[in-house]
Amino acid sequence: MPDLPGLPVPELLALDRRHVWHPYGPMPGRVDPLVVESASGVRLRLAGGPELVDGMSSWWSAIHGYNHPVLNEAAREQLGRMSHVMFGGLTHEPAVRLAKLLVDMSPDGLEHVFLADSGSVSVEVAVKMCLQYWRSLGRTRKQRLLTWRGGYHGDTWQPMSVCDPEGGMHELWSGVLPRQVFVDAPPAEYEESYAHQLRAAIERHADELAAVIVEPVVQGAGGMRFHSPAYLRVLREACDAHDVLLVFDEIATGFGRTGALFAAGHAAVTPDVMCVGKALTGGYMTMAATLCTPRVADGISRGEVPVLAHGPTFMGNPLAASVACASIDLLLGQDWLAEVKRIEAGLREGLAPARDLPGVRDVRVLGAIGVVQLDHDVDMRAATEAAVREGVWLRPFRDLVYTMPPYVTGDEDVARIARAVCAAAREG
Ligand code: PMP
Repeated sequence: MPDLPGLPVPELLALDRRHVWHPYGPMPGRVDPLVVESASGVRLRLAGGPELVDGMSSWWSAIHGYNHPVLNEAAREQLGRMSHVMFGGLTHEPAVRLAKLLVDMSPDGLEHVFLADSGSVSVEVAVKMCLQYWRSLGRTRKQRLLTWRGGYHGDTWQPMSVCDPEGGMHELWSGVLPRQVFVDAPPAEYEESYAHQLRAAIERHADELAAVIVEPVVQGAGGMRFHSPAYLRVLREACDAHDVLLVFDEIATGFGRTGALFAAGHAAVTPDVMCVGKALTGGYMTMAATLCTPRVADGISRGEVPVLAHGPTFMGNPLAASVACASIDLLLGQDWLAEVKRIEAGLREGLAPARDLPGVRDVRVLGAIGVVQLDHDVDMRAATEAAVREGVWLRPFRDLVYTMPPYVTGDEDVARIARAVCAAAREG
């Protein structure tokens, strides 16, 4: 592989192995990552020239693809004004405009926006909002969360406590994390017996529950499971009946990925609190948001401490907010649903052959998400290499080979991604 300008690739990789932590990685590193030199459209250009079609949207985020002229221009223009100013005591148009856009596009009733700096932080903020709400009302026992097994909400402390507790990514910490209430993950189809179990658990624990927090319709990093939106209505009704707040983590599902602008829209349900991130900036930079209803904000305001005590240094970052505004304008200015449906059709067709592969347990597609689930843990290296040989970037994990391509992925590239998923499932 020829060298990068400046630093020869072998040297760069040696330094990377020695000094740089990668997600869920050992130190020193054991596997050489691929070196990306640039990215444009749906293609990642590796050092030395080979290109890979991105089947991951950089973990659900790059919905418009890379190096997009509109997003580039938004960043460039904002850079000329200011890249960052503190948000305490100051405000600016990009943050205000973004908040308004988010309120307008979100389920009716969500009116207040906290601009966080990552998805995990937006979940932390959501949890703090809910816990503080009940404290403010003097209901101090209501400080726990109920969630589904098989979920994933981030890598900081409160989010870790509501991730899949068994065999999940944060099992190491199970003894010291806040102890939450777990209910089985929902079945794909609506089953009244499961809905009953859900209602019963909420009722049983209501005295100590601040909130129910779930990923609506798609449980992502915890297992790429899909479930009936009807369960969201069950949650809404049970939460209302038993004085429990409802939080939807739409960090992965938001901005059209499942075929609704937000997955809550499949059930026409408004949560009390909603987290968004990832595709918020079209994957350009790190920003997330926590939205809540006036009920939650008013409750907090009535408390002994009437403020939400959270304020990260990079809160409301104007550069990220400008790009987020441009990304949302871009999304809403096109027939995004037609694009997502086109990708859904392409994935359904392209992944159908995977059903006949040995070791394949399930193939499922929803919106611009395609999943092949195996009956064994995938050999991550072999599966990744198989995809790369097809010219596609995928990141299989556990028993899953899956894809969520940018919405701008053309039909031929969707077909190529599907072939790569099949190859990875076969060879992993
Ligand atoms: N919630 C969900 C549903 C997610 O998919 C993720 C990221 N994988 C997070 C929260 C955490 O977001 P971040 O990685 O930006 O902290």
